Amino acid sequence: MSCSGATSCGMVDRKDFDAIGGTPVRYGSPGNYVRRTISCERSFYGDLVDWLKSLKYFSDAFGGAQMNGVDFIGHAGAFVCKPGCHGRGLALDINRVQWAGVACNMFGGDHASGTRRVRRRYLAVDASCRKFFKYTLDGWYNAQHTNHIHVDGHTRPVFDKQSVSDVGFIQAVCNNFNGAGVTVDGSWGPRTQRAWDATNDAWGFNGCNPFGSEVAAAEWCNFVMAHGFADEGASASVYRSLLC
Ligand SMILES: [Zn+2]
Repeated sequence: MSCSGATSCGMVDRKDFDAIGGTPVRYGSPGNYVRRTISCERSFYGDLVDWLKSLKYFSDAFGGAQMNGVDFIGHAGAFVCKPGCHGRGLALDINRVQWAGVACNMFGGDHASGTRRVRRRYLAVDASCRKFFKYTLDGWYNAQHTNHIHVDGHTRPVFDKQSVSDVGFIQAVCNNFNGAGVTVDGSWGPRTQRAWDATNDAWGFNGCNPFGSEVAAAEWCNFVMAHGFADEGASASVYRSLLC
């Protein structure tokens, strides 16, 4: 279902919800979160259920006791009557993931935290989004997204070297997990290529092409989630793939 060029608003098959697969969604910001019924297209809701299931699996498995379960998802809106994906009910602005003992606080700009563990946790959540939503816009993308991660679901997720969003994410991962030291500018060049190769060598990620295959892109996101929630560098090999 397309939405990027939509000029009107409205939904075909509307889903009202105040939880994603049983996990509450709360609108607002830290200190002011309220549980509220929001709406989106039913197909997009299905993607959100799959997304949260995967996020929970990886944070449970790799994040330790403080990340058992997800208490709530904080957000800044889904359907809004305006042009684009929010106007078609195919987008959500996520600004917090709250676990039992810890949070990923996009609202507070965790992508730019001075603490690597916090940045890695943000990148793990970022990766969980990209596994399901091709158009994931994060704190590195532009100034409008430093306090939330925008996800929308109008095409299937495969990495693209021409995508500023995809490349910025990859550069941030290489810096935070494998000390790449590349500029996060969203532009693919020889330095980024070397950083990408080095990170994948360290992770033992090979034989798969995330730029050509949805399955391979999802698997790369799994590596980022596992290492991010575990707070492990590239070489720690906390995750092994049967595919790549
Ligand atoms: Zn948005």
